[in-house]
Amino acid sequence: MTLDRENVHARELLLLGRCPACAELLPALVVLRGESCDHCATPARVDARHEEALTEALSARWTRRSWIAVGIVGMASLMGGFVPFVQAPILLVGTLLAQVWVIGDAIGWLSPLRGAFTRLTLNLLLAALGVADLAANALVAGIPLLSAPILGLLGAATLWLYLAAARTLIRARLARDREGAPLGVTEWGVPVALLLTLVGVVLGAVVLAWAVIQAGEALLGGIVHALGGVLP
Ligand SMILES: [Zn+2]
Repeated sequence: MTLDRENVHARELLLLGRCPACAELLPALVVLRGESCDHCATPARVDARHEEALTEALSARWTRRSWIAVGIVGMASLMGGFVPFVQAPILLVGTLLAQVWVIGDAIGWLSPLRGAFTRLTLNLLLAALGVADLAANALVAGIPLLSAPILGLLGAATLWLYLAAARTLIRARLARDREGAPLGVTEWGVPVALLLTLVGVVLGAVVLAWAVIQAGEALLGGIVHALGGVLP
């Protein structure tokens, strides 16, 4: 069904999170549920199939923006792939920009706390993908001609995967928000557990490195001492 001009205008305002009549900013849930505006009491709805129309429009915007982002990052990865290790920062910057342009827009529809934990979960996933991509850069660094096309494909595929995962996650969280479900244990527990694991691994590595250095120094001191005793 196509919307008439008036409804298109209303939908565009609703997509910005604003009342279709007075253009005041409204809470995301008010817009998603098509409830009445707090300021002018006009229902924040497109038409009878409000939720469907809004979801379709948001989904279409997400799809359009993601393909543009994947295309740009893929091309930039291909070009940067000729120089060793240049593709990793290109992918990181591209993904952070996509995070603002594609994901940030969708997370804005979630309630603040749920949105914050969703963002944390996605950032941790991004960190894992970044490390994997850095490892891939190291692997292909020795293959001069093939490294660029491989990294071009990899850059596009990684961002696509990340955006697909983000879309699935945000869609599920949005459904919970609309049901009025409280923040679930998995919603905050998974990212917090991952974050603590990450901090633990980093701290563990630092402590281990420090212990190895101490042991090395002690050993070296012992050798020097022993040699000192022998040498004139
Ligand atoms: Zn209003």
